[in-house]
Amino acid sequence: MNNTEETNQDGIEPRKYTLDSRFKFACDKGMKCYTHCCSDLNIILTPFDIVQMKNRLGLTCDQFLAIYTKPEMLARTKLPVVTLKMLDDDKKSCPFVTPEGCIIYEDRPVSCRYYPLGMAAFREQEIEPTGEDFYFMVREAHCLGFEADKEWSVSEWRKDQGVNPHDDINKHWMEFMLRKKSFGFQAELSEEGRAMFFMVSSNTDKLRRFIFESSFLEKYEVEEELLEQIRTDEVALLKFGLDWLQSALFGADKVKLKEHVQEEQKKRAEEEAKAAGKVRH
Ligand code: SF4
Ligand code: SF4
Repeated sequence: MNNTEETNQDGIEPRKYTLDSRFKFACDKGMKCYTHCCSDLNIILTPFDIVQMKNRLGLTCDQFLAIYTKPEMLARTKLPVVTLKMLDDDKKSCPFVTPEGCIIYEDRPVSCRYYPLGMAAFREQEIEPTGEDFYFMVREAHCLGFEADKEWSVSEWRKDQGVNPHDDINKHWMEFMLRKKSFGFQAELSEEGRAMFFMVSSNTDKLRRFIFESSFLEKYEVEEELLEQIRTDEVALLKFGLDWLQSALFGADKVKLKEHVQEEQKKRAEEEAKAAGKVRH
């Protein structure tokens, strides 16, 4: 693989990269193109991106979403996500870029960490529901990083850019994005399902209120120890939310309904089936 591979008009190489694929690249503050990559972007924010960024900025989820993001419905998966809102200036700059670099660098979104790699999960055109994870390379004309001689594997790049801690937290969300077959994600989500997905993916404040201030805990089994973690640790809250989403939407065996609620639901379903039978006769 060399650095002159053909690219399409977005600078994307027609090649799938895996963790062992190698590429040459370097980026540092002294380069002429420094920060040229931080404008006119379509950055989908992951749930953990939102948690880190709003905490860095000292904002609530609602404030962060209102000021820095715009909602978007992914065309193919029909999943609601948020993207980072660019400024209304000539370059459509990222709100966090300055001549000295990114002011939230340590908490920058996972897409910025990957660059110049992109994640298949974020590129709908190339997603096939096979459950396969892969990356692609974006070779934009303004980026001089490809002239460097330093070689990386995708795996090394991910480690260097601090991507790994994000993976554990975003994993199940990514699987929704990739429509992996393992969750039986064949059908489109209902309106209610999409609203649940959006709440868990983008608003941990709302998720916390949903768990602790609704009838949630009357319906679901949650052990005391886990409950305490969810109450005090935002990442634990987010992970629990994603587990609940998989259970509620795709029947995963992670967050269980209490026995009496299961019984009631079963009874109701039987009564409905009976009533439907009567109507048919
Ligand atoms: S080398 Fe590429 S990634 Fe680095 S600052 Fe320049 S344009 Fe951005
Ligand atoms: S968040 Fe930071 S790294 Fe990402 S585009 Fe904005 S300024 Fe650049």
